[in-house]
Amino acid sequence: MAEYNPFENMLSVLDKAAENLGLTRNDYEVLRHPERELLVSVPVVMDDGHVEVFQGYRVQHNSARGPYKGGIRFHPAADLNEVKALAAWMTWKCAVVNVPYGGAKGGIAVDPTKLSKGEQMRMTKAYTERIAPIVGEHRDIPAPDVNTDGQVMAWFVDAYSKVMGHDVLGVVTGKPIELGGSLGRNEATGRGLMLALKHYYEANNDSIKGKKVATQGFGNVGSIGSKLIQDEGGIIVAVNDIGGTFYNAKGIDVKKAMAYSSTHGKSLKGYQEDGLQEITLADFWKLDVDVFFPAALDNQINASNVNDIKAKVILEGANGPTHVEADAVLEKKGVHVIPDIFANAGGVACSYLEWVQNLQGFYWTEAEVNEKLARNLKLAFNDLWALSQEKKVTLRMAAYMIALKRVVRAVQLRGM
Ligand code: GLU
Repeated sequence: MAEYNPFENMLSVLDKAAENLGLTRNDYEVLRHPERELLVSVPVVMDDGHVEVFQGYRVQHNSARGPYKGGIRFHPAADLNEVKALAAWMTWKCAVVNVPYGGAKGGIAVDPTKLSKGEQMRMTKAYTERIAPIVGEHRDIPAPDVNTDGQVMAWFVDAYSKVMGHDVLGVVTGKPIELGGSLGRNEATGRGLMLALKHYYEANNDSIKGKKVATQGFGNVGSIGSKLIQDEGGIIVAVNDIGGTFYNAKGIDVKKAMAYSSTHGKSLKGYQEDGLQEITLADFWKLDVDVFFPAALDNQINASNVNDIKAKVILEGANGPTHVEADAVLEKKGVHVIPDIFANAGGVACSYLEWVQNLQGFYWTEAEVNEKLARNLKLAFNDLWALSQEKKVTLRMAAYMIALKRVVRAVQLRGM
C-alpha cells in the first residue's frame, strides 16, 4: 500500500463521492483545500525551570455551514497532514449529523503523559493565546480529542476569556459541568457509537445482544462506548490499550476495567479479573468477533492486519482508523464499516447542544440532552441507510455523499 497520508486518504474518498454525485471538480475544488492552516510555537516553562517549545496547529477546513468546530489533541504523532485530515473529517461529520458547523481541528505534538499537571496547564494556556486570534464562540469552537478532556477545556476557557477581557464559555465545548459543560457530553461520543451499532443491527433485523466485540483504545470513546454496548447485551471480549491487550471469552467487566484504568494512570496495565488473559496485538486483530471497535488513532486497520480480520462489522470510534486501501479490502470481504464521520459524531452533535445552552444561558436536564442527541442520530442514520441501499454503496460512501452534497449546497448558496 502507498505511504500513508491521512489528508490524501480523505481526498480519495471525497473524489469518489463527488463522482457518484455527478459533481464537477469546479463544484467542490474549494473543499479539497483547508481554508486556513495555522502553525504556532507553544513555549512552556517546565517545572525544573528550563523552557521547551512545542509545535502547535489549528486547521480550519471549511465554514460554509457555520463556525468551525473540532477538537484539540495532544499527541506526539500530531502533524500538519493529520490535523488537516481531521479538520476535513469534522466538516463532513457536522454535515452528516446536520449540525450548523464547519470543520476544524487542532493539536500539539507532545506526549502529555510526560508532563506534570502544571506543565500541561501552562502549555494549554500558551497554545490558547497563540490561536486566540482565529477562534471564538462564533468563529471556531474547539473541544476535547485524543488526550484532552474537560480540565484542558477549562484552562482554555480561562486563557481565552483573559484575552477577551470577559468570560466566554461558548468558545469551547466538552467543558466540566461546573463551568458551562452539558450534562451527557462526556458520554455522548460513546453513546452515539452504541446507537450507531444499534441502528445498524435493527436495520438488519438483528440486535447488539450477544454480539462479541473487540475494542481498541480505552480512553473516553473506547471505554464509555464499550460500557454502553455491554449495557445493551453486547460482550466485550477484548480490549487493547496502552497497557496491553486483554481477552476474556466470558466478556470483560467494562465498569470494573474503567474504574481500574482511572486509578492506574489511564492504563489497563496489571488489570485482573476472572478468566482474563493477556494476548498479543497480532492475535487481537485475528479474534473471531462480530464487531471490531477501533477507538484509538487513525490508520490502525491497514495492509498489516486487514486480511486477518474476521469481524463482520467495524464500528469506527476513532477518526480515520481505516486506511483507504484496507477499506476496499473490507468491502470486498463483505465487512460492513459504520464510518467514523457518522459513528463517532455523537460527540460533536452533543457539543452543539452544549454550545446552544451556553449561548442561551439556559440549561437542559441530562434526559433532555440525551433525547435530543438520540433523535438527531436516528435521523442521520435513516438518511445514511436509505442512501446506501438506494445507490448500493457502502455506508462510508453514503455518508460522504450526504455530507458533500450539503456542504457544496452551502458553498453555492453563499456564492463562494
Ligand atoms: N474531538 C471530537 C471529534 O473528533 C469532538 C469534536 C467536537 O465536539 O467539536 O469529533
